[in-house]
Amino acid sequence: MLAIRASHAFDGNAFLPGGATVLVDGERIVGVEAGDHAVPEGCEVASYGGTVLPGLIDAHVHLVADASPGSLERSQAMTAEQLDAEIERSLASQAAAGVTTVRDLGDKDYRTLAFRDRRTTGQPRIIAAGPPITTPGGHCHFLGSTAAGPDELRAEVVRHHERGVDVIKVMASGGFLTAGTDMFGAQYSSTDLRVVVEAAHEVGLQVLAHAHSVAGIEAALAAGVDGIEHFSGISEDGNVISDDLLDRVAAAGIVVDPTMGFDQTLIPHMPPPPPQVLETMQRTGMDFPATMVRISEAAARLRAHGVRVVPGVDSGAMPLKAHGNAWIAVVDLVVAGWPVEEALAAATSGAAEVCGVADVTGRLAVGLDADLLVVDGDLAADPAALGRPLAVLVRGHQV
Ligand SMILES: [Zn+2]
Repeated sequence: MLAIRASHAFDGNAFLPGGATVLVDGERIVGVEAGDHAVPEGCEVASYGGTVLPGLIDAHVHLVADASPGSLERSQAMTAEQLDAEIERSLASQAAAGVTTVRDLGDKDYRTLAFRDRRTTGQPRIIAAGPPITTPGGHCHFLGSTAAGPDELRAEVVRHHERGVDVIKVMASGGFLTAGTDMFGAQYSSTDLRVVVEAAHEVGLQVLAHAHSVAGIEAALAAGVDGIEHFSGISEDGNVISDDLLDRVAAAGIVVDPTMGFDQTLIPHMPPPPPQVLETMQRTGMDFPATMVRISEAAARLRAHGVRVVPGVDSGAMPLKAHGNAWIAVVDLVVAGWPVEEALAAATSGAAEVCGVADVTGRLAVGLDADLLVVDGDLAADPAALGRPLAVLVRGHQV
């Protein structure tokens, strides 16, 4: 048995006064005791002055991409061996940063599924969407799952289900990273998206819609999706998400992932974007500084309107979104005005519920997997301490 003792503790929902001693036996948590708890005879103790909390969950990653410019697109030309090597590197970076569960929302050739099932020691748990469903030539079409019209869409959902995915990802709007896609409109009608939702729900799968545009968000909302990724609110009138739209998303119980966690320290070192990306950025008014402000305001407004938020990063998609940035997304929520406890809960117990793994991870609780993170500092007073990991356990295994 191993005891992780820390001066401060967050259990997934609240801070525990006086810290905690978390008892670990094999893969599981077998005790969550007071900070000064007398451990059983023969129990190895690791003591820290910082904060112990559940491992973080990144609800939006691309394990096949390494965050270098164009990496997601480059994956189309990679061999299975190269893809697997990339996935392994991404997982190692996530684990090192204290991320013990990732939800992959776009891979190539379903390569992440084998890793999910392999459960290698020290490897973060994976929830996998496989390749995202998109229109022919649409956003991320190069990942290989294109469908147009009800029949093809239904068939594509069935194919994903047969391959064993955990969730369906569908591209409801264009994306910055795919040249020629429509950032202002919708890729599918709400009728088409409803076919995806019905086919997925029939086999027990949730549907997450990628939507930057208001038109894409409206189509996804009308179709009854379970979650919306990005939620940028791009329209010809500027980037405006109305109070009314936020209220309707909240009433529908749709979970929004505003994909935060940009590493802003890298902005001055970014290479100039390719011409088509630059053009889109100028047309949408989404240069990096404006984007940072917009996302922060959105995080505050989502909370004020009672929309459930899960903090994913879109890790791997671009240089500012490296694998392991989940802690930055939590700090972003705090900067946006969220109470620290709520921001931490969103990335632990809340994300576990949203991702369907609350029975195994996301809290310091007896019987759950020992997915633990210890950071250097008191998170209640210094949320940025989340970026200073001292120890990470994935299913009881120290990485
Ligand atoms: Zn993505």
